[in-house]
Amino acid sequence: MTESAPLDAQPSFADLLDDERLVRALADVGYESPSPIQAEAIPPLLAGHDIIGMAQTGTGKTAAFALPILSGIDVTNPHTQAMVLAPTRELALQVAEAFASYAKHLPGLNVVPVYGGAGYTEQLAALRKGAHVVVGTPGRVIDHLERGRLDLTTISYLVLDEADEMLKMGFADDVERILRDTPTTKQVALFSATMPSTIRRLASQYLTDPVEVKVHAKTVTAKNVRQRWLLVPHFRKLDALARFLEVEPHEGVIVFVRTKQVTEELAEQLRAYGHTAQAINGDLVQAQRERAVNALKNGSLDILVATDVAARGLDVDRVSHVVNYDIPHDPEAYVHRIGRTGRAGRSGDAVLFVTPRERRLLGVIERTTGQPVTPMDIPTAEQVNARRVEQFEEAITDALATKDVHMFRGLVSKYAESTGVDPIDVAAALAVRAHEGRSFLLEAKDDIVLSERDRGRDRADRSERPERPQRPTPDGMAVYRLAVGKRQRVTPKSIMGALANEGGLGRADFGNISIRFDHSLVELPDPLPSGTESKLSRTRIGGELIQLERDRGARRSGSSSAPRHAGGGRSWDNKGPVRSARTPRRRKG
Ligand code: AMP
Repeated sequence: MTESAPLDAQPSFADLLDDERLVRALADVGYESPSPIQAEAIPPLLAGHDIIGMAQTGTGKTAAFALPILSGIDVTNPHTQAMVLAPTRELALQVAEAFASYAKHLPGLNVVPVYGGAGYTEQLAALRKGAHVVVGTPGRVIDHLERGRLDLTTISYLVLDEADEMLKMGFADDVERILRDTPTTKQVALFSATMPSTIRRLASQYLTDPVEVKVHAKTVTAKNVRQRWLLVPHFRKLDALARFLEVEPHEGVIVFVRTKQVTEELAEQLRAYGHTAQAINGDLVQAQRERAVNALKNGSLDILVATDVAARGLDVDRVSHVVNYDIPHDPEAYVHRIGRTGRAGRSGDAVLFVTPRERRLLGVIERTTGQPVTPMDIPTAEQVNARRVEQFEEAITDALATKDVHMFRGLVSKYAESTGVDPIDVAAALAVRAHEGRSFLLEAKDDIVLSERDRGRDRADRSERPERPQRPTPDGMAVYRLAVGKRQRVTPKSIMGALANEGGLGRADFGNISIRFDHSLVELPDPLPSGTESKLSRTRIGGELIQLERDRGARRSGSSSAPRHAGGGRSWDNKGPVRSARTPRRRKG
């Protein structure tokens, strides 16, 4: 394999962070190397500087401030040590979740999200237990301050996340009011996608000698690569990719994702759709990587699902398409990715999947590469079906031309004569048998439609609010709510284990399981077998009562009333796939 020059040497997480427990947690979530904003922001933050970070969603900015904060928290001190202000409750929840996942190996570290539109009781209880890190929206933070439930006089870190959005949403006075309650000794990090004068003014007033970090991008042109993008809700990405691969004639394809875990999960999902797909990531030894790349070269493999690190320098003429399934962290990574196609003087195609809240990053990519990326639509059921019919016809023509159909012809004709059945019905029956287990045509009602708001907006957290489920809860089942979630580190396995052992439920009783930050939603039989509820009334997971109850619909964190699903019964969460009870286990390697 010909390797082109590697990218500039990047630091590893272990180079940036002293705390091995954080490095381990990052490996657990599958990050292979720091994103540019992380490489730039972590060292000055660890050195105690205030920073202004110009970065938007998708760049990895959350970890850029969360990791230095986590490495400075003293878990034995119960007081609040870090406050993160975010414009929306969705962002607050996401940031809290990110903190919790990076703090996986820091026992006793508490992260509490506080946001408006939700009851006070749970938030107060959580704050009373001691919150090392509080992540909240300005209005609700002020409510808690005024009720004396939150004390910010002890904090060492303050983060203003998406500061431009906060000001745009009219939180300027609230932010200043909160800042007044904090000690002058604290370290401040301000992140903003844009730097209007209002943000500059805020920074000059509340930050001390800040270091400015932003992602620099080198511009490289890839003129022989056609660049397109499509807008897709996060949880329909797999379906959109499957449709794209069906209607778009292609040879080799490299699908880029962010984490090792997703390379493996997506490769497996694509195999389930009938593609030849393999994952390559930083865990593979050189020989395995070469085997995969050679398979892509000689055509025995069509799809490689790769992380940026694993695909560095990959040079395969046969790659007709690069799919940016997860948006890259910066324009430079984008340029590097799309350079994997259009090799050896051929033309290539690059497609970028953009979720509604990542729209701004698309603009940055277009501006820095100086090349237009044209929008395309997600293939509709009609287009997919037209392609399937075409292939069906091709398969018949091909078999008639190249295979010996003599023997079967005799059998069919004998059957038709002896039964009087029309030979066309016989052919149709055989086609049904050939497609058994799969529905041949998609239905228009399953098309991926975006709301006007998602289409039109520049950026919006609200769009990532969990959507209504794609498939309704199966008959005979209902969605139940458990008062434990990611915060208690529950997993689908621990939920199934507890409910099966203590409630007497069997494997077949479980539908999808969706684990949210502070609760979980589980599909269970409706009604539950008698006695199950009382048996489970004292059940705990992670030390907390599960408080099993029928889910009463959207509330609290803006969650929908049921676990969400993508095509094929897979269940997905905001940050990627979450294994449902019915999803097969990920294969290793
Ligand atoms: P953010 O810009 O903080 O919203 O992060 C965007 C996405 O990138 C999130 O899904 C993160 O989990 C993911 N992410 C952050 N840092 C890394 C990294 N170093 N490698 C891979 N994925 C990352």
